[in-house]
Amino acid sequence: MLADKDRIFTNLYGFQPWNLDAAKKRGDWADTKDLMSVGPDALIDAVKASGLRGRGGAGFPTGMKWSFMPKTPNPDRPSYLVVNADESEPGSCKDREIIRHDPHKLIEGALIAGFAMRARAAFIYIRGEYIAEAKVLMAAVQEAYAAGLIGRNACGTGYDFDVVVHRGGGAYICGEETAMIESLEGKKGQPRLKPPFPAGAGLYGNPTTVNNVESIAVVPTILRRSPEWFAAIGRPKNEGTKLFQISGHVNRPCVVEEAMSIPFRQLIDEHCGGIRGGWDNLLAVIPGGSSVPLVPAHQIMDCPMDFDALRDLKSGLGTAAIIVMDKSTDIVRAIARLSYFYKHESCGQCTPCREGTGWMWRVMERLVTGDAEPHEIDMLLEVTTQVEGHTICALGDAAAWPIQGLIRHFRPEVEARIARRKGFVQVPGLAVAA
Ligand code: SF4
Repeated sequence: MLADKDRIFTNLYGFQPWNLDAAKKRGDWADTKDLMSVGPDALIDAVKASGLRGRGGAGFPTGMKWSFMPKTPNPDRPSYLVVNADESEPGSCKDREIIRHDPHKLIEGALIAGFAMRARAAFIYIRGEYIAEAKVLMAAVQEAYAAGLIGRNACGTGYDFDVVVHRGGGAYICGEETAMIESLEGKKGQPRLKPPFPAGAGLYGNPTTVNNVESIAVVPTILRRSPEWFAAIGRPKNEGTKLFQISGHVNRPCVVEEAMSIPFRQLIDEHCGGIRGGWDNLLAVIPGGSSVPLVPAHQIMDCPMDFDALRDLKSGLGTAAIIVMDKSTDIVRAIARLSYFYKHESCGQCTPCREGTGWMWRVMERLVTGDAEPHEIDMLLEVTTQVEGHTICALGDAAAWPIQGLIRHFRPEVEARIARRKGFVQVPGLAVAA
C-alpha cells in the first residue's frame, strides 16, 4: 500500500477545507517562485525525469509533450495551456475529487506548467454537469488572483499568467482535445483532423498543449519532492502515484491514490473490501473507463494496474476508472449499453463512426436478446475493424474496442444466447438443431 507520506492528494476526501489558507497549510503555493526560478527548460527536464505520463488516458509522457511547444515567445501568437476537466468517460470521477477538495493543486500546477511552456494563459475546461465543482474552482481562482499568485507578476516572478474557467455544455466529445479547442473558440465541439497538432496550431490557431487535471495537479509536488522520488514509485515506464476510481460490484466503491502498478487484487482488497460475494464471484473488469476492452477475471487478478501491463492484456489503463462486474452481470447487455453511449455521443462528422456506432449498437441489442443470426457475430467483429482506426478521432476506436473485448472473451455466452432463442442445443464450438 502507498505510504501516507507519499500521497500527493492529502485532502482527497475533503476532511479539510479546499480554500487557500487550508491549501497553504497542506504545502501548496510554498515557495512557488523558487520552484519556477530554475527556468522553463529545467522544469520540463524535471517532469521528463519524473516519468510522469498523461493521466487522461493516453499515457503520453507529459514532459515530452511540453517540449513540443515553442521555445521563443511570440506576442502575436501567444501559447496556451488547456486543462481538460471535461471528465465524461463512464466510470471516471477522479478529477472531480481534485477540483472539489484540492483545487489549488490544480491552479498552482497550471501556473508552473504554463511557465514551463511559456504560455500566456490556462483555460480550464470543466464538464458542464460539474456545477458545484465549477463554483469551487472559480472561487479558488479568485483567491489565487487576490493573493497575487496568478495574474500580473504571478507569485512575484515577473511572469503574467491568467487562468480562465470555462464550463462545457455536456457533450462527451468535447473531452477530445481538438473538439475541446473548437468548443473554447465558441464553435460546435467537433474534433479536428490532425496534423496540425495543437502544439503547432491549437486554440485560436496558436500553440497549445492540452493536459488532464491530474497530470497538472501532481506537478508542484513532483518538483518539491524531486523527480526521483516520483520515479521510484511504480514500475519502470509506469512511474508515480495514480488516482484509481473503482465502481461496480465491490464492497466499497471509492477513489483512492495508490502506487502505479499495484496488483488488481491488492487494490480491491485493501481499499474496497473485496469483491461483492467474494473473489470467486468476479466475472470481468473494465480497467480503464468504458473505452478499453474488458478483461476476464482470471487474467486481471494478479495484473499490475499500469499502462504497459494492461496493454499486454489487449486492454488499457485509460483513466484508471475500474468498473468491476460480478457474475450477476448480464455482460452482453452491459457492453450493449456502452455501444448506445458511443452512438449517442458520436459527433457525426465522419461516416464510419456516425453510421458504424449506430449499426454496432443495433446488432448488440439483438445479441442481448439472442435475436441475431449466428453469422452476425463475425460480421459485427468485421464492422468494428472497419470503424477502428478509420475515423477522425478516437471515439470510433472507443466504440469498437469494448465489443471486440466482449467477443474475444465471452463469445460462447453470445453464441449460447442465439442458440437458446432459436431452440438450438449448444455444444462447445458447434450449434446444432434440437
Ligand atoms: Fe466525430 Fe466520431 Fe468522427 Fe470522432 S470519430 S470525429 S466523434 S464522427
